Amino acid sequence: MEIIKIKNLSVKYNEHLAIKNINLNITSGEYVCLVGKNGSGKSTLLKAITGLIKKETGNIEFKIAKSDVAYLAQNNMTDENFPATAKEIIMTGLQKHHIKPFYTKANYSELEDIAKKLKIENIINKKIGALSGGQRQRVLLARTLISNPKILLLDEPCSGLDSMTIKSFYNILDELHKTTNITIIMATHDLQNITNPNIRIVALEQEIVFDGNINDFKNQEQTNGHQ
Ligand code: ADP
Ligand code: MG
Repeated sequence: MEIIKIKNLSVKYNEHLAIKNINLNITSGEYVCLVGKNGSGKSTLLKAITGLIKKETGNIEFKIAKSDVAYLAQNNMTDENFPATAKEIIMTGLQKHHIKPFYTKANYSELEDIAKKLKIENIINKKIGALSGGQRQRVLLARTLISNPKILLLDEPCSGLDSMTIKSFYNILDELHKTTNITIIMATHDLQNITNPNIRIVALEQEIVFDGNINDFKNQEQTNGHQ
């Protein structure tokens, strides 16, 4: 089932055209990586999907509720001195559903569940500033997932992390995708650490310049003498 249909989408910042004539349909359960150089429009496309930026022209049609879309922004670096534990930060992911910050037993059992899935059970009571970069990204991912979204939008979640940490982050995403059928759309800088053969690649250079399976993309890159 198609859950997002993007038709002829273009976005401008003042006079600068960031993305041009994007046509993209996302099917439920797909795992999509948006790739492309710096400035190719990945973040702009994700922000347009979240509604953070107004679309210039075109149309984005949702077949699910907007509240089922969760987004982890680029450069989500938290202040080292921020006086909150990982658990407190994860629980704020539920606040859009609550006017007052009271959590139910069900919320806490969701927290346990998500902490287990993301392998952060043993760190949720630590202060966020005491965690490593990779642990922090998992905590932020947990915060994004605790509202049980149907679509997960991730903007370069691994920038600044070392390759071991990146691999384990991607393994966790693979596992999550396999076990929950969540739809993932992730902007990423490079594909070196991605091994999942089922990923759909959408390559941007303002426009979509490739849309297809990751292995075909990698073969094409080799033929073109890139990488
Ligand atoms: P990517 O995420 O692939 O690096 P972006 O979507 O951030 O690309 O940027 C696409 C283009 O839009 C770039 O040329 C960038 O300089 C420009 N751009 C992005 N954000 C803004 C902004 N807030 N104001 C003006 N120009 C922007
Ligand atoms: Mg970006």
